[in-house]
Amino acid sequence: MTEGLSGTTALVTGGTSGIGRATAVALAGLGAHVVLSGRDATRGEEVVSRIRASGGKADFVAADLTDAASARSVAARAREAGGHVDVLVNNAGIFPTGPTADIPEAEFDRVYATNVKVPFYLVAELGPEMAARGRGAIVNVSTMVATRGMAGMALYGSSKAAIELLTKAWAAEFGPSGVRVNAVSPGPTRTEGTAVFGDGLDELAAAGPAGRVAAPEEIAAAIAFLVTAESSFVQGAILPVDGGRLAV
Ligand code: NAP
Repeated sequence: MTEGLSGTTALVTGGTSGIGRATAVALAGLGAHVVLSGRDATRGEEVVSRIRASGGKADFVAADLTDAASARSVAARAREAGGHVDVLVNNAGIFPTGPTADIPEAEFDRVYATNVKVPFYLVAELGPEMAARGRGAIVNVSTMVATRGMAGMALYGSSKAAIELLTKAWAAEFGPSGVRVNAVSPGPTRTEGTAVFGDGLDELAAAGPAGRVAAPEEIAAAIAFLVTAESSFVQGAILPVDGGRLAV
């Protein structure tokens, strides 16, 4: 086991499923004390048990992340569990699709609350503390449809486009204090959340050079790279992890 994150505490939102769960497992494998959040306590405790069974350190924090208050509460509970937070992975996200004209206002607000407002206030809470300690790493999870216009993806894609700009703005704001802020931009990845797309996910992936859907562990490996010293000179980057889909 490489101990690249030994002695650190990492908060992974949406750690109960898919990319977030794979990231929690990967960061724990690198020696981090992982605090993972989600709404589903059963799945959360399963991930904690799995990490502890392989000698890692993990805690679950149950939270419905909907607003600034819930973001601040999760940050506080992660701080309690680990003393302080060195690594933040803003992964929790929702991705409803559909024609613009069919999106109710409540759906618009829900997507922007989960995908933009919560990451914003988690960084507002934890970024300055990392900066005060002179070190830290933040990774935001975006998507290839933040830069690629696709019918049916206007709402979701635009929320992730916001997170990509925030990644650069936060790199500028916190980078001089030793906090690196980056993003990954995954392509189609097989998770509980994308099961609903059925064959559509494979069709989307087929057009890219890799020609296949990713496993969540492949996205997690890129996130792990961005939070360890292996990426010490990478700041404000949006790393495509999409089998080349954005390149062609
Ligand atoms: P997933 O399997 O649906 O998992 C989503 C996670 O987010 C779950 O752990 C869920 O927790 C959590 N979450 C959602 N809403 C929440 C809320 N209101 N409060 C607290 N937690 C909440 O999704 P995924 O496919 O792994 O996607 C993870 C991230 O990658 C998302 O940001 C997504 O936009 C991005 N992404 C995914 C793909 C893909 O193809 N899979 C591609 C590009 C980008 P609970 O289930 O415990 O509530």
